[in-house]
Amino acid sequence: MTLFEKIVAREIPAKIVFEDDEVLAFHDVNPQAPVHVLVIPKRVIPRIAEAQPGDGALLGRLLLTAKQIGADLGLSETGFRLVINSGHNGGETVPHLHVHLLGGRPMHWPPG
Ligand code: AMP
Repeated sequence: MTLFEKIVAREIPAKIVFEDDEVLAFHDVNPQAPVHVLVIPKRVIPRIAEAQPGDGALLGRLLLTAKQIGADLGLSETGFRLVINSGHNGGETVPHLHVHLLGGRPMHWPPG
């Protein structure tokens, strides 16, 4: 099981902010911004580089869920950033696709 599957299974605690049949969202344990939420598919896709055409609906659901959580947490007006790290050079550390929702402070560009 991936670390995030263990969170889905409630084997590891997390501060869950949203759940439905396909998606779970929870606060990052090491937040990089005042709001830092991870949005994951319950079904494991290891990384975006391995996503398949048949994953399209689920990928769209992740983005729309992230948008809605951002709105619920008051980020719509000030803005927010969505990040997907893929592979070593992308900075991925957990091989279970996740969308980072970051907000509550200005973001810099380019990212490090
Ligand atoms: P990434 O580096 O893009 O793979 O992101 C993995 C993220 O998972 C990092 O931001 C970590 O802080 C976060 N993380 C690792 N373990 C946990 C956990 N038990 N609960 C919540 N977030 C976690």
